[in-house]
Amino acid sequence: MLRPTLLIAAVAVLSGACSESPSDERAMRLVDAMASDTHIGLVPGGSSDLGDSAGVPSVDGALPDAAAPPAPPPPPTLQQAIATITQKQLEADLGTIASDAYGGRNPGTPGGEKILDYVENIFKTAGLAPPTGQSSMRQKFTVGGTPTANIIGVMPGTDPLLKDEVVIVGGHHDHVGTSSDSGCGASASGNNICNGADDNGSGCTTIINVARALALLKGQNRRTLVFMTFGAEEKGLVGSRYYVEQAPLYPLSKTVYMINVDMVGYSQGGSVQALGGGRSQATSSIINQAAATYGVTPQITEKAGGGSDHYHFALAKVPYVFFFTGFHPCYHKTCDTVDRINFVDYTKIVKTVAHLAWEVTQRDQSPREDFASDYVMPAPSFKADAHAHVHDGIEWIDRSTQQWIRGPGSLYAP
Ligand SMILES: [Zn+2]
Repeated sequence: MLRPTLLIAAVAVLSGACSESPSDERAMRLVDAMASDTHIGLVPGGSSDLGDSAGVPSVDGALPDAAAPPAPPPPPTLQQAIATITQKQLEADLGTIASDAYGGRNPGTPGGEKILDYVENIFKTAGLAPPTGQSSMRQKFTVGGTPTANIIGVMPGTDPLLKDEVVIVGGHHDHVGTSSDSGCGASASGNNICNGADDNGSGCTTIINVARALALLKGQNRRTLVFMTFGAEEKGLVGSRYYVEQAPLYPLSKTVYMINVDMVGYSQGGSVQALGGGRSQATSSIINQAAATYGVTPQITEKAGGGSDHYHFALAKVPYVFFFTGFHPCYHKTCDTVDRINFVDYTKIVKTVAHLAWEVTQRDQSPREDFASDYVMPAPSFKADAHAHVHDGIEWIDRSTQQWIRGPGSLYAP
C-alpha cells in the first residue's frame, strides 16, 4: 500500500506538470520514485531537493539501506598467514635478541629480563591470550633463587569436541650470558658475551614468528594452540620441567603434541632433524608434507633425543617432535652470532613449523592415537651445563651415575 503523502504528490504531477517546466525532470524522478515506492517526504506545494536516488523510497516504502556495511573479507587461509613470515622479520627479531644489548639472555640479568618483555609484547600485540586461569602471560619461577619466567600466549580452541586438547609450540628464550656468568669461553677479542643467536635465538624467534602468523587465523583453530618460550633451559631444562612437574597450566593428558624448536639456524642445504617425529606415522607424514611445501629436507627419526625442553614432556608421555640443525663449533661460544645464521633455510624451517602446528591443531586424528610412547628417555648429557650448574648450585647430572644431583638452590631440593 502506497502512502498517502505520495499519492497527493503524484496526483499533482500527473495533473498537468509533466510536459514543459524544469520540474519535469523532478516529476519524472518522482514517477520513478513511485515506481520504486520510496517515501521522500514530499509535501503538497512544498519544495524538496530529491538529491541522489538513495532517498528514493522502495515499493514497500522502506528506505534503501544506503549504509549497509560491506561484507567482511573472508578469513585468511593458512597459506596467506604463513606468507606473512618473512626472512626480513626473522632477521630483525633474531638480530635484536642476539645483540649485545641482550647480554646473552642469562636469567636474572638485564638481558634476561629484556627477553621476557620482548616475547610478551609480541604475544600481546599478536592478540594472544594469557593461559586459562591466569591474568599474565608470565609463569614465574625461581632458579638458584633468581626469579625468571616462562612466557605463555594462547589461542583458545573453538571446536566443541577438540578445544580442550592442546598443541604446544615451544623453545627456550634464555642463554648462558657472558663468560663471567657461565662457562661460555670469552673470544680472543675480549668479547665475553655469548649472544646465543642459534642457541636458542633461532628457536625463540621461530616461536614468536609462528605465533604472529597463526594468530591471524584466530577463531579458526579447532584445538587450543599454546605458544611457550621457556626460561632457564641452560640451567637444566628448569622452566619446562617446572611447567610439566610443578604447574602444567593445561592437563598433560590433554596435551596432544609438543613441538620443540632449539637451534635451527645452522641448516645444511635445507635439512633439519625432526627428532622423535618418527614415533607417529600421522605426524611424520604431516612433517614430510609441510617440509615439502617449503623446500625443507626433514630427517625424521624415532630417536628420542634429550637435552632440550621436549624432554620432560616426553617423560610425561606427551607426543613431541624436536627440531634441531645440530651442534657446531660456536655452540655456547661468543661466536654464536647472528651473522652465522643460514637465514634462507631457517626461514623455510620456520614456515614448516607453522604449517605442522596448524595441521595438528586442525586434524580430527590426535597424535596421541598413534604416538609410540613406549620408550625410555636417556638421561640428558650436560657437558657444558654440568659446569654451569655447579656454578649455580642448582642441579646437574652425575655423568658416572646418570643420577640427578640437586644443589641447595634447586627447585627440587629435597
Ligand atoms: Zn638451547
